[in-house]
Amino acid sequence: MIKKFFSVLVNLKNKEDGAVIALASAALVVILGLTALVVDVGALVLEKTRLSNACDAAALAAARELPSSTAAELKALRYLEYNGVSPQEAAVTINEDHNSITVEATRTVNYTFARVLGLSSGTVSARSTAVFGAVSSVTGIVPFGIPEQPLVFGQEYQLKAGSHDDYGPGNYGALALEMPGAKSYRNNLMYGYDGVISVGDWVETEPGNMSGPTEEGVKYRISQCPHTPRCTIDNYHRDCPMVMIVPIYDPTVLNGRDKVHIVGFGAFLLKGVEGQGKKSCVTGYFLEMNPPEGLNYTIDPNQTDYGLHGTKLIE
Ligand SMILES: [Zn+2]
Repeated sequence: MIKKFFSVLVNLKNKEDGAVIALASAALVVILGLTALVVDVGALVLEKTRLSNACDAAALAAARELPSSTAAELKALRYLEYNGVSPQEAAVTINEDHNSITVEATRTVNYTFARVLGLSSGTVSARSTAVFGAVSSVTGIVPFGIPEQPLVFGQEYQLKAGSHDDYGPGNYGALALEMPGAKSYRNNLMYGYDGVISVGDWVETEPGNMSGPTEEGVKYRISQCPHTPRCTIDNYHRDCPMVMIVPIYDPTVLNGRDKVHIVGFGAFLLKGVEGQGKKSCVTGYFLEMNPPEGLNYTIDPNQTDYGLHGTKLIE
């Protein structure tokens, strides 16, 4: 009787051990599963972020080379490789009108812990599209305007005249931004207009020679160049206050306080004021560049490119 009792007890104990082992096994699978989730999904997210950043950088850099598709493709692949993405993992597509580029990348990530769940690897991919276009609206322009004309990079152009011969009665090349008057003109020349001017806008001219405010504004801008030696056409910084954004307008004969129709924007490196008093004129060198830091702008792939252009991610 006693022997039988002990036998039942031993059986019971064995059954409990089995249950404990089964429970422990289940718990281990859950723990490994959670570890797999944290470690392997974390690795996937990390790789996805890496690919996204690489595609963004490659698309933006490559878009600057458009409309040359060969140069854009090479630039995209170089940026991808620089960011650890091999050409085998990537695909670069340039759209038909050559104003946007799509960079895609796909990568297989081998799992470490998820193997216990029967999963060996996962795939991540990223895709970025960047568009290239001329600046179609911008802040920070100076109150000069030049009529549309053949413009050559690096050449010197007149931005404000000492005589009204080139523009029409009363006009010397100045624009009235926000409000008329020499004081507003001088401030906009010194600091750049803080409002937005867009292609298609009609902007009032500012009649009068205003040689005093012009000289003051130009001297101030040149004095703000923080570079040594001072910026010249052979060596300039695009973010220097000597670089000015100038609206380009439909050529027209002006008369007094008139209006001009804005067709685009150009960048000029300020050279300085030439001549004295009423004869003074302002000249600058025409530049090809992206908008300086600190300015807000939009680009439009369909806008005529006068050398001031940029790229942006649209996907
Ligand atoms: Zn400078």
